[in-house]
Amino acid sequence: MTDKEKKASEKIGLFGNVDSPSLFSAMEKVIDSGLILLDRNFHCLFINERARSIFELTPGKKLTDEKEMSLLGPLLKEFQVGDEDLFEKELRINLRWAENEKTVKTLSTPIIGADGKLGYIVCLWDLTSTKEKERLQSEFVGHVSHEMRTPLTVMREFTSILLDGLGGKLNSRQEEYLGIIHNNIERLDRIVTTLLDISRLEAGKVKLVCEIANVMRLMKHVVYMLTPHAEKKMVKLTCKSLRHLPPARIDVDKITQVLINLVANALKYTPAGGTIDVSAKNVNNALAVSVSDTGMGIPLEDQKRVFDKFFQIGLKPGPGAKGVGLGLAITKQIVVMHGGKIWIDSIPGKGSTFTFTVPCVKKIADLPSYIDECIDFTKISGKHFTLMRICISNIKKLEKTGTKKEVIGTMKKIIGNELRKATDSDPILIKDSLFVGLPGTNRKQANALKERLISVFSFKVPVALRLGLADYPEDAGTSEEIIKHAISDSKREVRIG
Ligand code: ADP
Repeated sequence: MTDKEKKASEKIGLFGNVDSPSLFSAMEKVIDSGLILLDRNFHCLFINERARSIFELTPGKKLTDEKEMSLLGPLLKEFQVGDEDLFEKELRINLRWAENEKTVKTLSTPIIGADGKLGYIVCLWDLTSTKEKERLQSEFVGHVSHEMRTPLTVMREFTSILLDGLGGKLNSRQEEYLGIIHNNIERLDRIVTTLLDISRLEAGKVKLVCEIANVMRLMKHVVYMLTPHAEKKMVKLTCKSLRHLPPARIDVDKITQVLINLVANALKYTPAGGTIDVSAKNVNNALAVSVSDTGMGIPLEDQKRVFDKFFQIGLKPGPGAKGVGLGLAITKQIVVMHGGKIWIDSIPGKGSTFTFTVPCVKKIADLPSYIDECIDFTKISGKHFTLMRICISNIKKLEKTGTKKEVIGTMKKIIGNELRKATDSDPILIKDSLFVGLPGTNRKQANALKERLISVFSFKVPVALRLGLADYPEDAGTSEEIIKHAISDSKREVRIG
Protein backbone atom coordinates (compact mmCIF):
# COMPACT_ATOMS: atom_id res chain seq x y z
CA MET A 1 0.00 0.00 0.00
CA THR A 2 1.37 3.43 -0.98
CA ASP A 3 1.49 6.31 1.54
CA LYS A 4 -1.30 8.03 -0.33
CA GLU A 5 -3.54 4.94 -0.19
CA LYS A 6 -2.74 4.49 3.53
CA LYS A 7 -3.84 8.04 4.30
CA ALA A 8 -7.02 7.60 2.27
CA SER A 9 -7.95 4.37 4.10
CA GLU A 10 -7.30 6.04 7.49
CA LYS A 11 -9.73 8.76 6.49
CA ILE A 12 -12.39 6.21 5.55
CA GLY A 13 -11.83 4.54 8.92
CA LEU A 14 -12.42 7.85 10.66
CA PHE A 15 -15.75 8.37 8.92
CA GLY A 16 -16.67 4.76 9.56
CA ASN A 17 -16.93 5.62 13.29
CA VAL A 18 -19.38 8.46 12.68
CA ASP A 19 -23.08 7.55 12.71
CA SER A 20 -25.41 9.17 10.17
CA PRO A 21 -27.42 11.42 12.57
CA SER A 22 -24.29 13.06 13.98
CA LEU A 23 -22.81 13.40 10.49
CA PHE A 24 -26.00 15.13 9.29
CA SER A 25 -26.28 17.42 12.31
CA ALA A 26 -22.62 18.46 11.83
CA MET A 27 -23.33 19.15 8.16
CA GLU A 28 -26.46 21.10 9.12
CA LYS A 29 -24.38 23.59 11.10
CA VAL A 30 -22.19 24.55 8.15
CA ILE A 31 -24.58 24.34 5.21
CA ASP A 32 -26.48 27.56 4.51
CA SER A 33 -29.06 25.96 2.22
CA GLY A 34 -31.95 23.56 2.53
CA LEU A 35 -30.71 20.00 2.12
CA ILE A 36 -32.63 16.88 1.22
CA LEU A 37 -31.54 13.38 0.51
CA LEU A 38 -33.70 11.40 -1.93
CA ASP A 39 -33.60 7.75 -2.85
CA ARG A 40 -33.73 6.82 -6.51
CA ASN A 41 -37.57 6.84 -6.40
CA PHE A 42 -37.63 10.41 -5.07
CA HIS A 43 -38.60 9.37 -1.51
CA CYS A 44 -37.20 11.72 1.07
CA LEU A 45 -34.64 10.03 3.36
CA PHE A 46 -33.41 13.14 5.12
CA ILE A 47 -34.47 16.77 5.33
CA ASN A 48 -32.64 19.50 7.26
CA GLU A 49 -34.16 22.38 9.25
CA ARG A 50 -33.69 24.96 6.49
CA ALA A 51 -35.47 22.78 3.96
CA ARG A 52 -38.27 22.14 6.48
CA SER A 53 -38.71 25.87 6.89
CA ILE A 54 -38.70 26.42 3.08
CA PHE A 55 -41.47 23.80 2.80
CA GLU A 56 -43.19 25.28 5.91
CA LEU A 57 -43.20 21.93 7.72
CA THR A 58 -43.22 21.58 11.53
CA PRO A 59 -39.71 22.35 12.75
CA GLY A 60 -37.64 20.00 14.88
CA LYS A 61 -38.14 16.65 13.16
CA LYS A 62 -35.18 15.05 11.53
CA LEU A 63 -36.93 12.58 9.25
CA THR A 64 -40.25 13.08 7.55
CA ASP A 65 -43.23 11.08 8.82
CA GLU A 66 -45.80 9.37 6.57
CA LYS A 67 -48.07 12.42 6.36
CA GLU A 68 -45.26 14.77 5.43
CA MET A 69 -43.93 12.27 2.92
CA SER A 70 -47.28 12.20 1.15
CA LEU A 71 -47.34 16.01 1.07
CA LEU A 72 -43.80 16.34 -0.21
CA GLY A 73 -43.90 13.41 -2.63
CA PRO A 74 -45.46 15.14 -5.66
CA LEU A 75 -43.30 18.23 -5.09
CA LEU A 76 -40.07 16.29 -5.02
CA LYS A 77 -40.92 14.72 -8.37
CA GLU A 78 -41.21 18.24 -9.80
CA PHE A 79 -37.50 18.70 -9.12
CA GLN A 80 -36.90 16.35 -12.05
CA VAL A 81 -33.39 15.80 -10.86
CA GLY A 82 -31.15 15.43 -13.90
CA ASP A 83 -28.47 12.82 -14.24
CA GLU A 84 -25.84 15.44 -14.91
CA ASP A 85 -23.13 15.81 -12.32
CA LEU A 86 -24.60 19.10 -11.15
CA PHE A 87 -28.13 20.03 -12.14
CA GLU A 88 -29.49 23.52 -11.43
CA LYS A 89 -33.15 24.39 -11.65
CA GLU A 90 -35.44 27.22 -10.64
CA LEU A 91 -39.08 26.44 -10.08
CA ARG A 92 -42.29 27.72 -8.58
CA ILE A 93 -43.76 25.33 -6.01
CA ASN A 94 -47.23 25.27 -4.56
CA LEU A 95 -47.31 24.43 -0.82
CA ARG A 96 -50.95 23.37 -0.57
CA TRP A 97 -50.71 22.68 3.19
CA ALA A 98 -49.48 26.23 3.84
CA GLU A 99 -51.62 27.83 1.12
CA ASN A 100 -48.48 29.48 -0.17
CA GLU A 101 -46.43 29.57 -3.35
CA LYS A 102 -42.66 29.86 -3.41
CA THR A 103 -39.86 30.19 -5.92
CA VAL A 104 -36.93 27.91 -5.13
CA LYS A 105 -33.59 27.22 -6.70
CA THR A 106 -32.34 23.64 -6.52
CA LEU A 107 -28.88 22.28 -7.12
CA SER A 108 -28.65 18.53 -7.19
CA THR A 109 -26.27 15.69 -7.88
CA PRO A 110 -26.83 11.95 -8.17
CA ILE A 111 -25.26 9.62 -5.57
CA ILE A 112 -23.61 6.76 -7.41
CA GLY A 113 -22.84 3.52 -5.57
CA ALA A 114 -21.24 0.29 -6.73
CA ASP A 115 -24.65 -0.89 -8.06
CA GLY A 116 -25.48 2.30 -9.89
CA LYS A 117 -27.59 5.27 -8.84
CA LEU A 118 -28.63 5.22 -5.16
CA GLY A 119 -30.40 8.56 -5.01
CA TYR A 120 -29.80 12.27 -5.06
CA ILE A 121 -28.60 15.09 -2.82
CA VAL A 122 -30.54 18.30 -3.38
CA CYS A 123 -29.64 21.76 -2.03
CA LEU A 124 -32.47 24.31 -1.92
CA TRP A 125 -32.65 28.08 -1.67
CA ASP A 126 -35.81 30.12 -1.16
CA LEU A 127 -35.79 32.87 -3.81
CA THR A 128 -39.37 34.08 -3.16
CA SER A 129 -38.57 37.44 -1.59
CA THR A 130 -35.64 38.11 -3.98
CA LYS A 131 -37.95 37.40 -6.93
CA GLU A 132 -40.64 39.67 -5.52
CA LYS A 133 -38.10 42.49 -5.09
CA GLU A 134 -36.89 41.92 -8.66
CA ARG A 135 -40.48 41.98 -9.91
CA LEU A 136 -41.18 45.32 -8.18
CA GLN A 137 -37.91 46.78 -9.50
CA SER A 138 -38.64 45.60 -13.00
CA GLU A 139 -42.22 46.93 -12.84
CA PHE A 140 -40.84 50.31 -11.75
CA VAL A 141 -38.21 50.37 -14.51
CA GLY A 142 -40.86 49.34 -17.06
CA HIS A 143 -43.20 52.09 -15.90
CA VAL A 144 -40.54 54.82 -15.92
CA SER A 145 -39.17 53.83 -19.34
CA HIS A 146 -42.68 53.74 -20.76
CA GLU A 147 -43.34 57.26 -19.45
CA MET A 148 -40.04 58.52 -20.91
CA ARG A 149 -40.90 57.44 -24.43
CA THR A 150 -43.40 60.19 -25.27
CA PRO A 151 -41.24 63.18 -24.25
CA LEU A 152 -38.25 61.53 -25.97
CA THR A 153 -40.20 61.18 -29.23
CA VAL A 154 -41.24 64.85 -29.06
CA MET A 155 -37.64 65.95 -28.38
CA ARG A 156 -36.36 63.88 -31.30
CA GLU A 157 -38.98 65.24 -33.69
CA PHE A 158 -38.32 68.87 -32.75
CA THR A 159 -34.52 68.61 -32.94
CA SER A 160 -34.99 67.05 -36.41
CA ILE A 161 -37.23 70.00 -37.39
CA LEU A 162 -34.59 72.47 -36.17
CA LEU A 163 -31.79 70.55 -37.93
CA ASP A 164 -33.80 70.64 -41.18
CA GLY A 165 -33.79 74.43 -40.87
CA LEU A 166 -37.57 74.63 -40.46
CA GLY A 167 -37.19 76.82 -37.34
CA GLY A 168 -34.94 79.30 -39.13
CA LYS A 169 -31.42 79.20 -40.54
CA LEU A 170 -28.80 77.75 -38.17
CA ASN A 171 -25.19 78.84 -37.97
CA SER A 172 -22.59 76.07 -38.09
CA ARG A 173 -22.03 76.05 -34.32
CA GLN A 174 -25.77 75.76 -33.59
CA GLU A 175 -25.99 72.95 -36.14
CA GLU A 176 -23.08 71.11 -34.49
CA TYR A 177 -24.56 71.43 -30.97
CA LEU A 178 -28.00 70.36 -32.15
CA GLY A 179 -26.41 67.34 -33.87
CA ILE A 180 -24.86 66.30 -30.54
CA ILE A 181 -28.23 66.67 -28.78
CA HIS A 182 -29.92 64.65 -31.51
CA ASN A 183 -27.38 61.79 -31.30
CA ASN A 184 -27.78 61.63 -27.53
CA ILE A 185 -31.57 61.60 -27.76
CA GLU A 186 -31.24 58.62 -30.11
CA ARG A 187 -28.89 56.93 -27.64
CA LEU A 188 -31.25 57.57 -24.74
CA ASP A 189 -34.09 56.18 -26.84
CA ARG A 190 -32.11 52.96 -27.44
CA ILE A 191 -31.44 52.64 -23.69
CA VAL A 192 -35.11 53.22 -22.83
CA THR A 193 -36.19 50.65 -25.44
CA THR A 194 -33.76 48.10 -23.97
CA LEU A 195 -35.04 48.78 -20.44
CA LEU A 196 -38.61 48.32 -21.64
CA ASP A 197 -37.65 45.07 -23.41
CA ILE A 198 -36.09 43.51 -20.30
CA SER A 199 -38.93 44.56 -18.00
CA ARG A 200 -41.56 43.17 -20.41
CA LEU A 201 -39.59 39.91 -20.74
CA GLU A 202 -39.22 39.59 -16.97
CA ALA A 203 -42.88 40.35 -16.36
CA GLY A 204 -43.79 37.51 -18.75
CA LYS A 205 -45.52 40.01 -21.05
CA VAL A 206 -43.62 38.80 -24.10
CA LYS A 207 -45.11 35.75 -25.78
CA LEU A 208 -43.19 33.72 -28.31
CA VAL A 209 -44.78 33.15 -31.69
CA CYS A 210 -42.87 30.07 -32.84
CA GLU A 211 -42.72 28.64 -36.32
CA ILE A 212 -40.56 26.14 -38.17
CA ALA A 213 -37.45 27.91 -39.39
CA ASN A 214 -34.14 27.28 -41.08
CA VAL A 215 -31.61 28.64 -38.59
CA MET A 216 -28.79 28.53 -41.15
CA ARG A 217 -30.68 30.97 -43.38
CA LEU A 218 -31.32 33.20 -40.36
CA MET A 219 -27.61 33.19 -39.46
CA LYS A 220 -26.67 34.12 -43.04
CA HIS A 221 -29.19 36.97 -42.95
CA VAL A 222 -27.73 38.43 -39.73
CA VAL A 223 -24.16 38.07 -41.03
CA TYR A 224 -25.22 39.82 -44.26
CA MET A 225 -26.81 42.67 -42.25
CA LEU A 226 -23.76 43.22 -40.02
CA THR A 227 -21.06 42.76 -42.69
CA PRO A 228 -20.82 46.54 -43.41
CA HIS A 229 -20.08 47.14 -39.66
CA ALA A 230 -17.48 44.36 -39.69
CA GLU A 231 -15.82 45.81 -42.81
CA LYS A 232 -15.71 49.24 -41.19
CA LYS A 233 -13.97 47.70 -38.15
CA MET A 234 -11.71 45.58 -40.41
CA VAL A 235 -12.95 42.38 -38.77
CA LYS A 236 -13.68 39.26 -40.85
CA LEU A 237 -17.24 38.04 -40.28
CA THR A 238 -18.09 34.58 -41.61
CA CYS A 239 -20.93 32.10 -41.43
CA LYS A 240 -20.11 28.39 -41.58
CA SER A 241 -22.70 26.76 -43.74
CA LEU A 242 -23.23 23.25 -42.38
CA ARG A 243 -25.49 21.09 -44.49
CA HIS A 244 -28.31 18.85 -43.24
CA LEU A 245 -29.28 20.95 -40.24
CA PRO A 246 -32.80 20.09 -39.13
CA PRO A 247 -35.31 22.95 -38.97
CA ALA A 248 -35.90 24.55 -35.56
CA ARG A 249 -39.07 25.71 -33.83
CA ILE A 250 -38.37 29.33 -32.94
CA ASP A 251 -39.74 32.84 -32.79
CA VAL A 252 -37.79 34.16 -35.77
CA ASP A 253 -37.79 37.84 -34.69
CA LYS A 254 -36.58 36.99 -31.19
CA ILE A 255 -33.82 34.61 -32.30
CA THR A 256 -32.74 37.22 -34.86
CA GLN A 257 -32.42 39.64 -31.92
CA VAL A 258 -30.30 37.06 -30.03
CA LEU A 259 -27.98 36.61 -33.01
CA ILE A 260 -27.69 40.36 -33.59
CA ASN A 261 -26.85 40.91 -29.88
CA LEU A 262 -24.12 38.24 -29.91
CA VAL A 263 -22.55 39.27 -33.23
CA ALA A 264 -22.78 43.00 -32.31
CA ASN A 265 -21.01 42.27 -28.99
CA ALA A 266 -18.34 40.23 -30.77
CA LEU A 267 -17.82 43.20 -33.11
CA LYS A 268 -17.60 45.60 -30.14
CA TYR A 269 -14.95 43.57 -28.34
CA THR A 270 -12.82 42.32 -31.26
CA PRO A 271 -10.02 44.57 -32.51
CA ALA A 272 -9.19 45.18 -36.19
CA GLY A 273 -7.66 42.18 -37.92
CA GLY A 274 -9.73 39.70 -35.85
CA THR A 275 -12.35 37.22 -37.01
CA ILE A 276 -15.90 36.34 -35.96
CA ASP A 277 -17.47 33.01 -36.97
CA VAL A 278 -21.13 32.16 -36.72
CA SER A 279 -21.80 28.41 -36.92
CA ALA A 280 -24.38 25.81 -35.96
CA LYS A 281 -24.50 22.10 -35.30
CA ASN A 282 -27.02 19.50 -34.35
CA VAL A 283 -26.72 18.22 -30.75
CA ASN A 284 -29.25 15.60 -29.62
CA ASN A 285 -32.68 17.20 -30.17
CA ALA A 286 -31.38 20.74 -30.33
CA LEU A 287 -29.45 23.07 -32.56
CA ALA A 288 -26.40 24.66 -30.97
CA VAL A 289 -25.55 28.01 -32.52
CA SER A 290 -22.14 29.55 -31.72
CA VAL A 291 -20.68 33.00 -32.21
CA SER A 292 -16.87 32.87 -31.81
CA ASP A 293 -14.56 35.84 -31.83
CA THR A 294 -10.85 36.43 -31.52
CA GLY A 295 -11.42 39.44 -29.26
CA MET A 296 -10.36 40.44 -25.77
CA GLY A 297 -12.06 37.49 -24.03
CA ILE A 298 -13.76 37.48 -20.62
CA PRO A 299 -11.95 36.81 -17.31
CA LEU A 300 -13.00 33.54 -15.66
CA GLU A 301 -14.41 35.28 -12.56
CA ASP A 302 -16.72 37.41 -14.75
CA GLN A 303 -17.96 34.64 -17.04
CA LYS A 304 -20.80 33.61 -14.72
CA ARG A 305 -22.00 37.19 -14.29
CA VAL A 306 -22.06 38.46 -17.89
CA PHE A 307 -25.68 37.34 -18.22
CA ASP A 308 -26.70 39.36 -15.14
CA LYS A 309 -28.54 42.62 -15.64
CA PHE A 310 -26.38 45.76 -15.85
CA PHE A 311 -23.16 43.75 -15.65
CA GLN A 312 -20.31 45.26 -17.63
CA ILE A 313 -16.68 44.31 -17.36
CA GLY A 314 -14.27 47.10 -16.45
CA LEU A 315 -16.86 49.82 -17.04
CA LYS A 316 -15.39 53.28 -16.85
CA PRO A 317 -17.86 56.00 -15.84
CA GLY A 318 -18.87 58.56 -18.47
CA PRO A 319 -19.91 58.35 -22.09
CA GLY A 320 -18.39 55.71 -24.35
CA ALA A 321 -19.06 53.01 -26.89
CA LYS A 322 -20.42 50.63 -24.23
CA GLY A 323 -24.09 49.80 -23.86
CA VAL A 324 -26.08 49.39 -20.66
CA GLY A 325 -25.16 45.82 -19.83
CA LEU A 326 -28.61 44.47 -20.69
CA GLY A 327 -27.94 42.86 -24.09
CA LEU A 328 -26.86 39.48 -22.70
CA ALA A 329 -29.57 39.48 -20.00
CA ILE A 330 -32.20 39.94 -22.74
CA THR A 331 -30.46 37.33 -24.89
CA LYS A 332 -30.54 34.78 -22.06
CA GLN A 333 -34.21 35.45 -21.28
CA ILE A 334 -35.16 34.82 -24.93
CA VAL A 335 -33.11 31.61 -25.15
CA VAL A 336 -34.55 30.27 -21.88
CA MET A 337 -38.09 31.09 -23.09
CA HIS A 338 -37.36 28.82 -26.07
CA GLY A 339 -36.40 26.04 -23.65
CA GLY A 340 -32.72 26.45 -24.57
CA LYS A 341 -29.48 27.18 -22.73
CA ILE A 342 -26.71 29.70 -23.29
CA TRP A 343 -23.10 29.56 -22.12
CA ILE A 344 -19.63 31.00 -22.74
CA ASP A 345 -16.22 29.52 -23.41
CA SER A 346 -13.62 32.22 -23.24
CA ILE A 347 -9.89 32.64 -22.85
CA PRO A 348 -8.89 36.15 -21.82
CA GLY A 349 -6.78 37.77 -24.50
CA LYS A 350 -7.66 35.06 -27.04
CA GLY A 351 -11.40 35.34 -27.63
CA SER A 352 -14.87 34.16 -26.65
CA THR A 353 -17.46 31.72 -27.92
CA PHE A 354 -21.10 32.24 -26.95
CA THR A 355 -23.25 29.17 -27.67
CA PHE A 356 -27.02 28.86 -27.35
CA THR A 357 -29.39 26.00 -28.08
CA VAL A 358 -32.89 26.00 -29.53
CA PRO A 359 -35.16 22.98 -29.95
CA CYS A 360 -35.20 21.47 -33.42
CA VAL A 361 -38.13 19.86 -35.14
CA LYS A 362 -38.02 16.10 -35.24
CA LYS A 363 -38.45 15.13 -38.87
CA ILE A 364 -41.68 16.52 -40.39
CA ALA A 365 -43.76 13.37 -40.93
CA ASP A 366 -45.46 14.37 -44.19
CA LEU A 367 -46.55 17.33 -46.30
CA PRO A 368 -50.14 17.59 -44.92
CA SER A 369 -48.94 17.66 -41.28
CA TYR A 370 -46.30 20.29 -42.17
CA ILE A 371 -49.02 22.42 -43.83
CA ASP A 372 -51.29 21.94 -40.78
CA GLU A 373 -48.51 23.35 -38.55
CA CYS A 374 -48.07 26.31 -40.88
CA ILE A 375 -51.83 26.97 -40.93
CA ASP A 376 -51.88 27.00 -37.11
CA PHE A 377 -49.10 29.59 -37.06
CA THR A 378 -50.80 31.64 -39.82
CA LYS A 379 -53.99 31.75 -37.73
CA ILE A 380 -52.05 33.27 -34.81
CA SER A 381 -49.98 35.70 -36.85
CA GLY A 382 -52.79 36.79 -39.19
CA LYS A 383 -50.40 36.43 -42.13
CA HIS A 384 -50.60 34.18 -45.22
CA PHE A 385 -49.08 30.82 -46.08
CA THR A 386 -48.35 29.84 -49.68
CA LEU A 387 -47.48 26.40 -51.00
CA MET A 388 -45.52 26.26 -54.25
CA ARG A 389 -45.53 23.15 -56.39
CA ILE A 390 -42.92 22.64 -59.11
CA CYS A 391 -43.86 19.66 -61.24
CA ILE A 392 -41.31 18.12 -63.62
CA SER A 393 -43.59 17.09 -66.52
CA ASN A 394 -40.94 15.11 -68.41
CA ILE A 395 -39.67 13.25 -65.31
CA LYS A 396 -40.13 9.83 -67.00
CA LYS A 397 -37.88 10.87 -69.88
CA LEU A 398 -35.25 12.17 -67.43
CA GLU A 399 -35.46 8.86 -65.58
CA LYS A 400 -34.80 6.94 -68.81
CA THR A 401 -31.77 9.06 -69.67
CA GLY A 402 -30.45 8.79 -66.09
CA THR A 403 -30.47 12.59 -65.55
CA LYS A 404 -33.37 12.82 -63.06
CA LYS A 405 -31.20 12.90 -59.94
CA GLU A 406 -28.93 15.60 -61.33
CA VAL A 407 -31.86 17.80 -62.44
CA ILE A 408 -33.53 17.53 -59.02
CA GLY A 409 -30.23 18.30 -57.29
CA THR A 410 -29.77 21.41 -59.46
CA MET A 411 -33.36 22.53 -58.80
CA LYS A 412 -32.96 22.12 -55.02
CA LYS A 413 -29.73 24.14 -55.09
CA ILE A 414 -31.22 26.97 -57.16
CA ILE A 415 -34.39 27.10 -55.04
CA GLY A 416 -32.23 27.13 -51.86
CA ASN A 417 -30.30 30.14 -53.19
CA GLU A 418 -33.46 32.05 -54.06
CA LEU A 419 -35.35 31.49 -50.78
CA ARG A 420 -34.88 34.45 -48.47
CA LYS A 421 -36.87 33.87 -45.30
CA ALA A 422 -35.69 31.63 -42.48
CA THR A 423 -39.17 30.15 -42.38
CA ASP A 424 -39.25 29.10 -46.06
CA SER A 425 -39.09 25.30 -46.12
CA ASP A 426 -36.49 23.32 -48.00
CA PRO A 427 -37.97 21.70 -51.13
CA ILE A 428 -39.80 18.44 -50.37
CA LEU A 429 -39.79 15.87 -53.23
CA ILE A 430 -43.02 13.91 -53.71
CA LYS A 431 -43.25 11.73 -56.86
CA ASP A 432 -42.74 14.11 -59.84
CA SER A 433 -42.91 17.37 -57.88
CA LEU A 434 -40.98 19.57 -55.48
CA PHE A 435 -43.11 21.36 -52.86
CA VAL A 436 -41.92 24.49 -51.05
CA GLY A 437 -43.76 25.95 -48.03
CA LEU A 438 -43.66 29.74 -47.73
CA PRO A 439 -45.07 30.83 -44.33
CA GLY A 440 -45.74 34.57 -44.05
CA THR A 441 -45.79 34.92 -47.86
CA ASN A 442 -48.92 35.71 -49.88
CA ARG A 443 -49.76 34.68 -53.45
CA LYS A 444 -48.49 37.96 -54.97
CA GLN A 445 -45.08 37.69 -53.24
CA ALA A 446 -44.89 33.97 -54.06
CA ASN A 447 -45.67 34.77 -57.69
CA ALA A 448 -42.62 37.07 -57.80
CA LEU A 449 -40.50 34.18 -56.47
CA LYS A 450 -42.04 31.84 -59.06
CA GLU A 451 -41.13 34.17 -61.94
CA ARG A 452 -37.63 34.65 -60.51
CA LEU A 453 -37.14 30.88 -60.34
CA ILE A 454 -38.27 30.44 -63.96
CA SER A 455 -35.73 33.04 -65.04
CA VAL A 456 -32.80 31.51 -63.10
CA PHE A 457 -33.43 27.79 -63.65
CA SER A 458 -30.85 26.38 -66.05
CA PHE A 459 -30.20 22.71 -66.87
CA LYS A 460 -27.85 20.73 -69.09
CA VAL A 461 -30.82 18.76 -70.50
CA PRO A 462 -34.30 19.94 -71.61
CA VAL A 463 -36.64 20.11 -68.61
CA ALA A 464 -40.39 20.86 -68.73
CA LEU A 465 -41.80 22.45 -65.58
CA ARG A 466 -45.24 23.43 -64.33
CA LEU A 467 -45.33 25.77 -61.35
CA GLY A 468 -48.41 26.31 -59.22
CA LEU A 469 -49.33 28.20 -56.04
CA ALA A 470 -51.94 27.92 -53.28
CA ASP A 471 -52.45 30.65 -50.70
CA TYR A 472 -53.95 30.10 -47.25
CA PRO A 473 -56.52 31.51 -46.49
CA GLU A 474 -57.22 33.02 -49.94
CA ASP A 475 -57.33 29.88 -52.11
CA ALA A 476 -58.04 27.09 -49.64
CA GLY A 477 -58.69 26.36 -45.97
CA THR A 478 -57.25 22.89 -45.22
CA SER A 479 -53.96 21.15 -46.00
CA GLU A 480 -55.71 18.77 -48.40
CA GLU A 481 -57.37 21.62 -50.31
CA ILE A 482 -54.10 23.57 -50.43
CA ILE A 483 -52.23 20.66 -52.04
CA LYS A 484 -55.09 20.15 -54.51
CA HIS A 485 -55.15 23.85 -55.38
CA ALA A 486 -51.37 24.00 -55.93
CA ILE A 487 -51.67 20.98 -58.27
CA SER A 488 -54.59 22.40 -60.27
CA ASP A 489 -52.87 25.82 -60.45
CA SER A 490 -49.82 24.39 -62.26
CA LYS A 491 -51.17 24.15 -65.79
CA ARG A 492 -48.85 26.38 -67.83
CA GLU A 493 -45.76 24.50 -68.93
CA VAL A 494 -42.35 26.19 -69.25
CA ARG A 495 -39.52 24.52 -71.13
CA ILE A 496 -35.97 25.15 -69.96
CA GLY A 497 -32.69 24.01 -71.44
P1 ADP B 1 -23.22 45.75 -23.16
O1 ADP B 1 -24.40 46.53 -23.57
O2 ADP B 1 -22.36 46.40 -22.16
O3 ADP B 1 -22.45 45.18 -24.32
P2 ADP B 1 -24.03 43.03 -22.63
O4 ADP B 1 -25.03 42.50 -21.69
O5 ADP B 1 -24.27 42.77 -24.07
O6 ADP B 1 -23.89 44.57 -22.35
O7 ADP B 1 -22.61 42.45 -22.23
C1 ADP B 1 -22.20 42.50 -20.87
C2 ADP B 1 -20.68 42.58 -20.78
O8 ADP B 1 -20.12 41.35 -21.23
C3 ADP B 1 -20.09 43.66 -21.69
O9 ADP B 1 -20.03 44.90 -21.04
C4 ADP B 1 -18.70 43.11 -21.97
O10 ADP B 1 -17.83 43.52 -20.97
C5 ADP B 1 -18.88 41.60 -21.88
N1 ADP B 1 -18.93 40.97 -23.24
C6 ADP B 1 -20.05 40.64 -23.93
N2 ADP B 1 -19.73 40.04 -25.10
C7 ADP B 1 -18.38 40.00 -25.16
C8 ADP B 1 -17.43 39.49 -26.11
N3 ADP B 1 -17.81 38.90 -27.25
N4 ADP B 1 -16.11 39.62 -25.81
C9 ADP B 1 -15.71 40.19 -24.64
N5 ADP B 1 -16.55 40.69 -23.70
C10 ADP B 1 -17.87 40.60 -23.94
